[in-house]
Amino acid sequence: MMIVMKENASKEQIESVASKVESIGARAHISEGDVLTVIGAIGDTEQVAKLELDAAPGVDHVVPISKPYKLSSLQFKKGEKSIIDIDGHKIGGGHFGIIGGPCTVESLDQTIETAKACLDAGVTMLRGGAFKPRTSPYSFQGLGSEGLQILAKAKEETGLPIVTELMSIRDVDEVVEVADVIQIGARNMQNYNLLTEIGKTGKAALLKRGLSGTLEELLMAAEYILKEGTTDVMLCERGIRTYEPATRFTLDILAIPVLQGLTHLPVVVDPSHAAGRRDLVPPVSLAAAAAGADGIIVEAHPDPESALCDGPQALPTSEFAEYVEQVNRVAKLVGKTVKEK
Ligand code: PEP
Ligand code: MN
Repeated sequence: MMIVMKENASKEQIESVASKVESIGARAHISEGDVLTVIGAIGDTEQVAKLELDAAPGVDHVVPISKPYKLSSLQFKKGEKSIIDIDGHKIGGGHFGIIGGPCTVESLDQTIETAKACLDAGVTMLRGGAFKPRTSPYSFQGLGSEGLQILAKAKEETGLPIVTELMSIRDVDEVVEVADVIQIGARNMQNYNLLTEIGKTGKAALLKRGLSGTLEELLMAAEYILKEGTTDVMLCERGIRTYEPATRFTLDILAIPVLQGLTHLPVVVDPSHAAGRRDLVPPVSLAAAAAGADGIIVEAHPDPESALCDGPQALPTSEFAEYVEQVNRVAKLVGKTVKEK
């Protein structure tokens, strides 16, 4: 339930409504806009309804949110879309952004070379994994702390915000130091303790859809982060597991318009992990932009043949500028603002 306060509601009236909500064991999430203050009452809907808050001093009206996800619902922001804005690098709310970079940080040279190519191509943010969720425990697991330091250098060189994955609560402090956006990998979408700890950091997060996660489960996972106070969460469609072996996963293109109709959170698409093959990355990226995605997160490598992880799906950095230009062209066609080089 969402309690919309009157424009001239006093601080005391806002606090009084919040404490009534909390008195029945529900949670009051106060969001102060430029004009209006909205209090999200998160908890047992029937109990909250019994409070009859419509009549409380300072309350303008009450909007019931029937969905199980509240803070991530489009209703919560009265239909207004959220923008993730990291020092002016924007994704969402009409801003289309490309997050590019290596799957995995392998060395300083490989990362800086990729980061520079991404910057020249006009990406909005830089991705790169230091902690890698590998299917085989015998595969390269990422450089860990050393990888984070390399990402920090790449940020210094390019000024691009860093998107990097956190796999374990153990590493949260270290990752927060370097990351501008904490990536939650598909395999951790329902790792609720991890989501809660990430929410507590207040950092922006990029939450990937689980291999078999429904869209409602994805939104509920985002709710775990938002309920701790973080306001910036991007959702990522990265392909789900189906019976079709021709591609690595099956990109659910319809997830884009469905999510856009349900949530204010930016929706980005990862064509690389969905396709598993670099030749399929450009066409599916164009489709995602055309279907209304707010952005793309895509893998690139200076020499994909030698990549330690996900080489077959990486775009060569030599072809990256052309790729970004094509995707941006489609995003502009559907009315998005893209980053000008
Ligand atoms: C990645 O982004 O490199 C990654 C491992 O993605 P996912 O969690 O979607 O498999
Ligand atoms: Mn990868």
